Amino acid sequence: MHDTSLLCIMAGIYIHIPFCKRICSYCDFYKSTVLTFIPDYLAALEKELEIRQAYLLNEPVETVYLGGGTPSLLTSVQLSGIFNTINRYYNLSADCEITLEANPDDLTPDYLGQIRKNTPVNRLSIGIQSFHDGDLKLLNRRHNASQALSCIRNSQSLGFHNLSIDLIYGIPGMNTSQWIQNLEQAFSLKIKHLSAYHLTIEKGTAFHKKLVKGDLKPVHEDESLNQFAVLRKMAADNDFIHYEISNLAREGFFSRHNSNYWNEKKYLGAGPAAHSYNLISRQWNFPDLKKYVHAINRGEPFFESESLDDITRFNERLLVRLRTMQGLDADGMLRDFGEERFQNLMKSVEPHISGGYMVREGRFYHMTEQGWMISDGIIADLMQV
Ligand code: SF4
Repeated sequence: MHDTSLLCIMAGIYIHIPFCKRICSYCDFYKSTVLTFIPDYLAALEKELEIRQAYLLNEPVETVYLGGGTPSLLTSVQLSGIFNTINRYYNLSADCEITLEANPDDLTPDYLGQIRKNTPVNRLSIGIQSFHDGDLKLLNRRHNASQALSCIRNSQSLGFHNLSIDLIYGIPGMNTSQWIQNLEQAFSLKIKHLSAYHLTIEKGTAFHKKLVKGDLKPVHEDESLNQFAVLRKMAADNDFIHYEISNLAREGFFSRHNSNYWNEKKYLGAGPAAHSYNLISRQWNFPDLKKYVHAINRGEPFFESESLDDITRFNERLLVRLRTMQGLDADGMLRDFGEERFQNLMKSVEPHISGGYMVREGRFYHMTEQGWMISDGIIADLMQV
């Protein structure tokens, strides 16, 4: 099955809101807890959006995504200011998908009503992570299980029907029956999209420190694989399409913004640590709030960039496409990277097909369920140097 909604995507805008009230135990995103810096940051963001107005060459913008950090820490008036700036300098399409990432405890009926009234947000992506209080405490989230439930119901009753939620599996101490309960709860709430991530413990996080001290016991690999298998089975039973390794949705509700990344479309990322891509080069803003704001205010460069050579583009395409349900377009690989690289790739793919980890369907190669379970290893094997 192919997602026809991808065909019309032309460009996307990502806005990073790098503020959080509290740091989650597993988080390695760029963020700051100095909320008093928000006004200075928003002024710099406005300047960046103005400075970079030519980046997308006035092409229609099909998606805007406010991610973080915690975009729902901004008031509806601050959010509306960002959208006014975007509208001033960019050409938003009439059916633009506009997503706001939100924390459950920010989504009070009052706040949701204001977002509805004052902003064009038409999709919410809510960081639920778990419906169990024990998990939420361990993850150091701000919300509890009851807020996780009520924010989804409040969002729906205030007219936000295009809802995505994030859940995490492979949490230490969470067994498969608790994971099943989380999924049952999610599917019973009539959400349209689910992002389900396996917990990864990154250096520099509170979880990593605990792990090093021996105070945290990671889940056993068999349990992780079992939870992934359960996710696939329950998603299928509930008419969810597993269209990317960590993303599942009802037909017609695939994330157009993320699909933009996976289909190598142009995007502009604004704010500290945000990445941009214009088919030729990638650039990334300084991952430091103060440095970013000062550079913008002084009219100095606020990003670094690299041109993408063939081999980088080849490997990046493998990395993103083999995580999708549709997979890798063999014709496209031959056309874009030439006969020699293509033949090398075909040779490397062969053992994974005979091992039952990949299959060919028409011109696409994609992973099987077994393949997805060990996808990092397979992709690393297929990459060329
Ligand atoms: S709210 Fe999100 S960005 Fe902020 S610390 Fe938690 S996981 Fe990280």
